[in-house]
Amino acid sequence: MEKPEAEWRQELPPEAYRVLRQHGTERPGSSPLNAEKRPGTFRCAGCGQELFASTTKYESGSGWPSFWQPLEGAVGTTTDRSFLMVRTEVHCAACGGHLGHVFPDGPPPTGLRYCMNGAAMTFAPDQGDPPGTR
Ligand SMILES: [Zn+2]
Repeated sequence: MEKPEAEWRQELPPEAYRVLRQHGTERPGSSPLNAEKRPGTFRCAGCGQELFASTTKYESGSGWPSFWQPLEGAVGTTTDRSFLMVRTEVHCAACGGHLGHVFPDGPPPTGLRYCMNGAAMTFAPDQGDPPGTR
């Protein structure tokens, strides 16, 4: 999915644009998604692709929403050599939007820490059956 940068800039909130399209990083602790603990799915703020299930979210203490595993095929990675460090950059597999980085210091079973920017994601709580349908 390709879109001109001008369109992204128009459609996205400024902070989401800065993270997704300009590889920005939000201030730690600034995202309301840090505290999100309901069952549901985290989606890409750029294109709506489902990225992470709430069951893989954990409290890393970093100030960024952290997960130990993405949904299958949801994200891609590239090597990021900016800031004189070698890190693994994580982006949405559908629109290429920058999401964050993955580090090898996560919990079992994967040992990975997907350190994500909340501004790059939206949360969709699981829909229970509407009242009165059973
Ligand atoms: Zn996306």
